[in-house]
Amino acid sequence: MKKGKKLYEGKAKIIFATNQKDLVIQHFKDDATAFNNQKKSNIEGKGVLNNRISEHILTNLSDVGVKNHFVKRLNMREQLIKFVEIIPIEFIVRNIATGSLTKRLGIEDGTVLENPLIEYCLKNDDLGDPLISKEHIFAFDWATTKEIEKINKSLYRINDFMSGMFRGVGIKLVDFKVEFGRIKINGKNEIILADEISPDTCRLWDNKTEKKLDKDRFRNNLGNLIQGYKEVARRLGILHEQSNIRPIKFTKPTEVNIKKNR
Ligand code: 5GP
Repeated sequence: MKKGKKLYEGKAKIIFATNQKDLVIQHFKDDATAFNNQKKSNIEGKGVLNNRISEHILTNLSDVGVKNHFVKRLNMREQLIKFVEIIPIEFIVRNIATGSLTKRLGIEDGTVLENPLIEYCLKNDDLGDPLISKEHIFAFDWATTKEIEKINKSLYRINDFMSGMFRGVGIKLVDFKVEFGRIKINGKNEIILADEISPDTCRLWDNKTEKKLDKDRFRNNLGNLIQGYKEVARRLGILHEQSNIRPIKFTKPTEVNIKKNR
């Protein structure tokens, strides 16, 4: 497998071509951004952890029948993935109200939702990924009714599986964002799960203490982001350098809150 030219660079990842046109390399950077790129930092080790955590989750999802783009991990920062045409929608699933939902609708932070709530946002940084309805999706042809039906079914399955997986290691899956892509498999059009699933794209709270183990540590200046991500990896059983890991002691936030919760 030969690494080719850079095809795309996003905020946290770079996509490279390979010598096989249906496969690309996804490179995880250490860059962290929030609030639509207004807050930026480089956090050493984040890319390595996200590469491993995403590999673990997508492999397990594949084992339970959720088709996705992951092929294999190549090294600490890179994985081989199937080349897909990304649907320009961010699919968000929420189990507990927090973040933009509480801001937008005045719902109390931490409210446990009776049923998982699916939201759609247009993938457009210039517009700040605005919330859209199914009607917008169909009116502007961003996806078909059939595709959205399939994706919604898959979202519930992903949520069920991941909630159980995290519950088993003492973590609440509060919410997450995923993306899907179109691909031709044996001449048939299919929709598969794409992008990444990691503490960058999920909210993960410790079951007992409700300590945040995800990117909100960066967004909200809580500090110790890497310790949070390592804790997730350790609990999932994918971090082997156990000796380097001390029990996490979360320090108090130094700066406090930001205008928008993203
Ligand atoms: P919220 O809409 O509350 O800001 O985010 C809901 C969930 O989706 C959170 O788990 C958050 O991490 C994820 N999410 C939403 N938009 C983005 C995004 O543009 N980038 C990343 N990494 N995660 C996002």
